[in-house]
Amino acid sequence: MKIHALALSLSLACAACIAQASPTQCENKAFTVQFLGSGGPISDDARASSATLIWLKGKPLALIDAGGGAFLRFGQSGARLEDVRFIGLTHFHTDHVSDLPALLKGSYFFNSPHQIDIAGPSGGAGFPSLSGFMNAQFNAKTGAYAYLSGLYSGKGDIPLKLNLKTVDYAKAERSTVYRHGGVSISALGIPHGDVPTLAYRIDAPEGSIVISADQNGGNPRFVDFAKNADILVMPLAIDEQADAASAFLHAKPSTVGRIAAAAKPKQLVLNHFMGKGLRVKDASLAVVRRYYAGPVYAGRDLSCFTAR
Ligand SMILES: [Zn+2]
Repeated sequence: MKIHALALSLSLACAACIAQASPTQCENKAFTVQFLGSGGPISDDARASSATLIWLKGKPLALIDAGGGAFLRFGQSGARLEDVRFIGLTHFHTDHVSDLPALLKGSYFFNSPHQIDIAGPSGGAGFPSLSGFMNAQFNAKTGAYAYLSGLYSGKGDIPLKLNLKTVDYAKAERSTVYRHGGVSISALGIPHGDVPTLAYRIDAPEGSIVISADQNGGNPRFVDFAKNADILVMPLAIDEQADAASAFLHAKPSTVGRIAAAAKPKQLVLNHFMGKGLRVKDASLAVVRRYYAGPVYAGRDLSCFTAR
């Protein structure tokens, strides 16, 4: 008994020591964006792929996307899956969802039952719907991770229940996907080539945060969706000289700048950098600033931006 108590106190002390020593934790988690991944789909950027935490009152309220590397960064951030209330998937490119099964697996070790609302787009253009994607992972008979089928079915001995909310990405109006305790989260379809893709807006008494995933900037309704946010997160995946095929999928820096100028966020934070884009990052940021006069920041893995 004594040995057990000593081991427990040592492990608690060690956990506290890691938390204090680590520069990966946000100092202010009142209403804060923390990038778990700020990179793109190729590993040459030496960053984790897309994944963003929203902290509210010290807890990780929401996780938007879970691309490669999110599993590690989630642990480094100090977040616990038991505290996450909402997961929003923007689209089913690997650099946005490939670490999701690994993260969810952690629920097997929860001490008590927990529910997470999870939203994602309807299917199209060769991509699955949210339920199709989850089924491909967790179906009890045909899923790649059939051994975790309780995650999806709510049956079995896994203490996590996922409530799926599929959003029609072609719908013109925004859809409410989460509402609890004064917090409302809504989703809107955005044009990422023809890939079904959603942006998310988190409105709380503490402020508003908008997370745009990959988009080419062609949906004028996105400006209204993002209007007057405290923080607008936009991908800066390509440079101003990118070819037409890239610009069909992604907004050039001038388009990002124009959107921000129209939406008027208090802070514009950029992410989704790729190796090629990082080499011309300063030039791309200069183009954004030519259009948008507010503060512009370039995110890094685990960097934090607090609404104020
Ligand atoms: Zn994408």
